[in-house]
Amino acid sequence: TGLAITHPLHRAAREMPDRVATVDGGRQQSWREVASRTRRIAAVLQSFGVAPGDRIALLAPNGELFVDFLFGSLWAGAVACPINTRWTADEIAYALADCGAEVLIVDPDFRAMLRDIRRAAPALREVVMAGPVFEQLIAAAAEPEEHLRHGDDLAMILYTGGTTGRSKGVMLSHRALMTYALCLAGAGDAAPGECMLHTAPLFHVGAISGFLACLLGGGRHVFLPAFDAEAVMAAITAQHVTDLFLVPTMLLAVLDHPRFGEHDLTSVERIYYGAAPMPPALMDRAIAAMPRVGFVQGYGMTETSGSISLLKPADHRDPVRRRSAGRAVMAIEARIVDADDVEVPAGEIGEIVARGEAVMTGYWNRPEETAEALRGGWMHTGDVGRMDADGYIHIVDRLKDMIITGGENVYSVEVEAVLAGHPAVSQCAVVGLPDARWGERVHAVIVAKPDTVPDADDIIAHMRTKLAAYKCPRSVEFRSEMPLSAAGKILKAELRG
Ligand code: ATP
Ligand code: MG
Repeated sequence: TGLAITHPLHRAAREMPDRVATVDGGRQQSWREVASRTRRIAAVLQSFGVAPGDRIALLAPNGELFVDFLFGSLWAGAVACPINTRWTADEIAYALADCGAEVLIVDPDFRAMLRDIRRAAPALREVVMAGPVFEQLIAAAAEPEEHLRHGDDLAMILYTGGTTGRSKGVMLSHRALMTYALCLAGAGDAAPGECMLHTAPLFHVGAISGFLACLLGGGRHVFLPAFDAEAVMAAITAQHVTDLFLVPTMLLAVLDHPRFGEHDLTSVERIYYGAAPMPPALMDRAIAAMPRVGFVQGYGMTETSGSISLLKPADHRDPVRRRSAGRAVMAIEARIVDADDVEVPAGEIGEIVARGEAVMTGYWNRPEETAEALRGGWMHTGDVGRMDADGYIHIVDRLKDMIITGGENVYSVEVEAVLAGHPAVSQCAVVGLPDARWGERVHAVIVAKPDTVPDADDIIAHMRTKLAAYKCPRSVEFRSEMPLSAAGKILKAELRG
């Protein structure tokens, strides 16, 4: 039957039935309870006419409901499609229509949107609201046998972050997701341990792949409905959390929190980070503030079921490697290629491409975009980078964020790294704006630190001492906050206006 995502659930239910599996607010479930509930939810879905291969969507904050949805859908042989909860009713309906979901499982928080969603997603047969009625159905359900799947069968459709355009549905098989989870679970000191806190949204691949790797290791899952720095620190202390995934903006919020020093965070063994470039100054600050924590960077994308490469705790002790995104995981082969798809020598800049069992089957219903992305069997990431002779990958920029000014390539990430080192800068983003003379002009958007009086000329002058003139921002704009995607990434398209 290949690698099914439900295998580790079977194993946990058999080998440690009474161990705590999930913690959600005041509620707790054992693995025995999760397994029994999974079967009953599959039965409820089947009673709605759900057949193998049908799509089941979820609209809910992080919580036990994610576990119900994921395992219940997969047990019935269906495809699990978690939907971005930050989207508007129209965007949600678009995704539901796009993946052709038959059933939507929804948290009561979204009740007010349901009418608009239903109107725009006519294929939706059944909307199941979490709550007493659903619980009655679950309590009365039988416990059917699992529908057996092959590793190639689709397990999930995940929507990309929507950082560079409209999100695309990515088809991920059981084998792809499990392959990456096995890579992470077997990654030595980078593997998750006893207890993982899920604060990053579980509709994104970073959180889901962490969930699956922790599942393989038999760890406990603690859910927070949304990211909140204080709630994260309180949950770590209360639940003795060992592992958590934070995007750079979340890590910054934790370190900046006025009560950071008051919480007991000594249980934390690893903090995973990634999804967006980590500003070097923030990384150094995090390591200094939490010297006993092992930091693990993941660089990857929805299309690769998780990370293409990992930068492990020991790598963070090396001042050069600390700035890289680590080496390809066991089951992925990564290369740097030029515009003709020819591999470039070590150290040279090109597009990062990847292949292996963890790579997507394709984009759902988008054969042309699939063919374009998977050229020659390699996933073309759209990310620019270089690889050193030891295989360490350095991310340079996204192709779409690279600025071409007066014929010179400027990598936004490089300029941001310098800008973030200025004492008045809390967050920053560098984008290209159309310019009659230069084609594009380097423009900086800055959120200043509280209690500073930032001065654009001073910042530009500072940049000039650190970077070639053509890379320096020609204009600076101050904002009180950055436009962020649900994954916490800065939406540069919005900054370009
Ligand atoms: P969309 O594809 O819809 O525009 P997205 O690319 O942000 O959105 P994801 O699949 O969630 O959607 O994110 C993958 C991208 O995130 C990568 O292609 C890369 O640009 C960026 N990324 C991921 N990890 C890192 C990292 N460690 N350092 C720098 N960038 C990263
Ligand atoms: Mg992408």
